Amino acid sequence: MHENIAGGTGKVASWLELSAGALAANVATLRAVAAETGGPRALGAVLKGNAYGHGLAQMLPLVHPLVDLLYFIAPADALAARAHERGRGLAPKQILVIGALDAEEAVALAREGVDVVLADSSWREMVAPLRRAKLERPLRVHVHIDTGLGREGFTPGQITSGELDFLRDAGDVLQVVGVLSHFANTEDVTEQMYAQAQLDAFETGLKALRAAAPVHEPLQRHMAASAATLVLPQARYDAQRVGISLYGFWPSTETRLSARLVLGRVPDLKPVLAWRSPSQVVKWLSAGSYIGYGCTHRCSEATRVAVLPVGYFDGYPRLLSGKAHVLVNGHRCAVLGRVMMNHIIVDVTRATHDERPLTATLLGVDGDEHLHAETLASWAQTIHYELVTRLGAHLRRVVVP
Ligand SMILES: *Cc1c(COP(=O)(O)O)cnc(C)c1O
Repeated sequence: MHENIAGGTGKVASWLELSAGALAANVATLRAVAAETGGPRALGAVLKGNAYGHGLAQMLPLVHPLVDLLYFIAPADALAARAHERGRGLAPKQILVIGALDAEEAVALAREGVDVVLADSSWREMVAPLRRAKLERPLRVHVHIDTGLGREGFTPGQITSGELDFLRDAGDVLQVVGVLSHFANTEDVTEQMYAQAQLDAFETGLKALRAAAPVHEPLQRHMAASAATLVLPQARYDAQRVGISLYGFWPSTETRLSARLVLGRVPDLKPVLAWRSPSQVVKWLSAGSYIGYGCTHRCSEATRVAVLPVGYFDGYPRLLSGKAHVLVNGHRCAVLGRVMMNHIIVDVTRATHDERPLTATLLGVDGDEHLHAETLASWAQTIHYELVTRLGAHLRRVVVP
C-alpha cells in the first residue's frame, strides 16, 4: 500500500520489529488478571490507530487467534478484518466498530455481522436507510452511555428523557446487544473516585436503558480499557477493551503504582515493538565541526558520527533534537543537533571501533539497555500512545518470534 512513498522503504531505511511472543505473553497476562475476579470475561483487542502504530496488516493475523473480539474505529478496518477471516477460512470473531459511521457503512457492517456503537440521537436517521437495505438480520448495536468523559454517548439523563425511545419501533433493524462506557480519569490518578462515580452513572444508565428500549439479554456490558482491566476490578464486567497494554505498555506510571496496591504485584508487560535503523554512513568529524540544521551542535573533539536514515517524517519527533539517544552495540549514543525530516546524526565515538555500517536501536532492547517508548515520549513532551501511533505507516514491519 505504501511501497511508493519515498524515504522510508528503500534498502537503507529503518524498520519496526513486532514480537509475536511478547504479544502472546501480554494477552495471557491480561487474561489472567481479568480472571482474578471471576469470569467468564471476554478479552478484546483495540486495533485503532493502525494498531497503535504497530501496523494493522501485520498485527491482525497475530492478534486474531489470541483474543475473543476486535475493536476498530474505522468501518473499513472492520470490513478488512472480515475479508481476512474469509481469505483464511477462519471462524468470524465478534467485531465492534467504536467509531462514527454513516448509513451506507452501517448497512455494509450489518451485512458482515459487525457490531456497532449507537452513541447519539443522530441514529434516529439510520432506521429508514437500514429498512430500505432489507437486511437479513438487524444491525447489532451497543449503546454508549456517557458517564463523564463528555465524548460519545447518551448521558443517563438523555436516556430517561426519551432519546432512546425510537428504539421501541426499530427492532426490525436495530438490535441492542451491548452497552458500554469509557473512563475519563483512570490513568492519571492512583485513587479512583472519579471512576467510581462513572461506574455508578453506568449502572444508572443501564437501568434507564433497560426501561427505555427492548434489549437482547444478556447484554454485553463493557467499560474497561487497559487501566481499568489492570487496576479496577469492579469495571471488568463482561468484556475488556484492551489497547495500549496489549502492545506491552503500562497506560501510565500511576497505573503501574496502582497495580502494586490493587493486585499486590506488577504484572509483566512486554513491549511488542522495537525500532531499528541501519546507518547511512559512519564517519569522523573533526573538533570544531558543526552538526545539523541551525548548527546547534558543535563537536568539542573529534567525533565519530553515524548518520541514520530516520527523521520526523518517520515519526521520530523533532522535539527529540539534542535530547534523545539511540542504542548501538549496547551503548547509549546521543542524538547530536536537530532531528531532520529524514535524518538524525548520532555520536558513535565509543560505541564502535571503526566506520563500518551499524544498526541502531531507536526503541527497544540492545544489550543491557532498554530504550522505552515512555522515555522517548517524555523527552518529546508527549505520551507513548501518541509516539507509537505516529510511527510512519510506510515503515517496513517485520514479525519476529
Ligand atoms: C482507545 C480506547 C480503548 C483502549 O484504551 P487503552 O488505554 O489503549 O487500553 C478502549 N475503549 C475505547 C472506547 C477507546 O477509545
